[in-house]
Amino acid sequence: PPNQLPWDHTKKTVAILGSGWAATSILKDLDTEHYNVVVVSPRNYFLFTPLLPSCTVGTLELRSIMQPMRFITRFKKREVMFVEGECRSIDPEKKTLQVEDNSEVVGALSSQTIPYDYLIVACGAENATFGIPGVKEHACFLKESWDARKIRTRLMDCLETAAFPGQPASEVSRLLHMVVVGGGPTGVEYAAELYDFLEEDIAAWYPDIAGKMKITLVEALPHVLPMFSKELITYTEKHFAEAKVEIQNNTRVKEVRQKELVVQTPSGDIETIPYGLLVWATGNTARPVVANLINSLPKTLQNQRRGLVVDEYLKVKGADSIWALGDASATKWAPTAQVASKQGAYIASMFNLLARNEDDKQRLAAEGRDAASTAIDASPEAVGPFTYDHLGALAYIGSDKAIADLPGNVHVGGALTFYFWRSAYLSNLFSLRNRVLVLFDWGKKSVFGRDIGRE
Ligand code: FAD
Ligand code: NAD
Repeated sequence: PPNQLPWDHTKKTVAILGSGWAATSILKDLDTEHYNVVVVSPRNYFLFTPLLPSCTVGTLELRSIMQPMRFITRFKKREVMFVEGECRSIDPEKKTLQVEDNSEVVGALSSQTIPYDYLIVACGAENATFGIPGVKEHACFLKESWDARKIRTRLMDCLETAAFPGQPASEVSRLLHMVVVGGGPTGVEYAAELYDFLEEDIAAWYPDIAGKMKITLVEALPHVLPMFSKELITYTEKHFAEAKVEIQNNTRVKEVRQKELVVQTPSGDIETIPYGLLVWATGNTARPVVANLINSLPKTLQNQRRGLVVDEYLKVKGADSIWALGDASATKWAPTAQVASKQGAYIASMFNLLARNEDDKQRLAAEGRDAASTAIDASPEAVGPFTYDHLGALAYIGSDKAIADLPGNVHVGGALTFYFWRSAYLSNLFSLRNRVLVLFDWGKKSVFGRDIGRE
């Protein structure tokens, strides 16, 4: 397409915000023949988040789980415009987006207004910090590729700094204390990967200090993994206790300082915990662009801080021609990749049907027949409401063990589940290229171990 929008005035323009699970799922199924499709995202690739924790320690390399957006858009029937930029604001009245190139290299023009007829908000969510002082300054998050890279670099820095000749013992134990805040699946899977790294590689490469490394998981609720079944929670906590990953349940973080955390213990006491590396994984909150849109809509309809409230057709309540899905929306379903991709497929089928019905209406009009008198429902709702069938939840817990809550009240954990976990994720990867790269990384790790170079 030319770099002007709309590039075909006879077609409606669909703008999609994001290049994550929801947006790519729409793109896979959307018939782009009927629309000018423009995708806006600050990152020009799709990231397979379920395997992101593996990239923090080098079990996998980041590029193996990334798929460039242009690989996806260029294979569509009619071309899709991809704009690498961050949507800063949405004007629902004028039906425009304000997009800014927020990358390091910017040209003479770094901001643009993009018009749309239909807007699909699939820009995910941000990390929740609950306004706790010091989190943004000192902790690492685990949501994006750069977060995983930062964790890997800092982890190796902590190890090398602890191994620095003459480092005082108290400083060695601080530097080797790896703390994870948030016992949801992100925190648990990261702690599991870190434990594997310690057992399989650090112990061999840093024999003098490896024994002093400690992993602590801090969770505010009475147990980790609140969304899993009781037996798998018990199984995971027991497994972590055996692996010497300490779980501090019922512990609330009050403040994060450069080298220590301030927590409230179950007994109500305030304590400090020195750390070398802190990973913060306490769930989601709305991104600024979503929060601003929420604030611009009627408060009676938009009353959730975590995302946009939508109706059963995923249409944003109180807005005209705007849909929201995935982590950007606030629904009764958990903010997972599974939900986001199913919602994406639903939105694509809605827009495909809308286009077909519009075509039929125009054909009838051209034949001189009255479209209104036919049974054609040319509204997006014609597709019926969104429904969701949960396929279950999987999580890696370390030492080649995984847990799975499956439909039909099946709760399994252990080594066999680990192979199920691996094959499920492998088959879900975006492309054959990703599958080959991930298989190669797993093989490489088994033969040579993980790379301990600090990038
Ligand atoms: P995302 O996939 O986060 O995509 C959002 C997109 O929007 C990104 O491309 C982003 O760059 C872009 N964007 C951001 N800001 C803007 C802006 N201002 N304008 C335009 N675009 C913007 N779920 C599971 O079901 N199973 C799992 O095993 C699993 N494992 C996970 C592991 C980790 C470490 C994490 C962090 C999450 C995991 N999840 C898992 C949850 C899952 O990743 C999310 O629910 C899913 O990514 C949501 O999809 P989304 O498209 O809404 O958002
Ligand atoms: P989450 O919301 O699932 O869990 C966050 C945890 O942090 C909760 O247990 C919460 O009690 C705890 N917490 C909150 N504030 C705290 C504080 N101040 N101190 C200590 N603990 C605190 O978040 P997540 O793990 O990042 O996951 C986000 C979403 O992604 C979820 O929907 C999850 O299901 C999904 N996900 C799924 C998988 C998987 O299926 N394997 C993996 C990762 C993420």
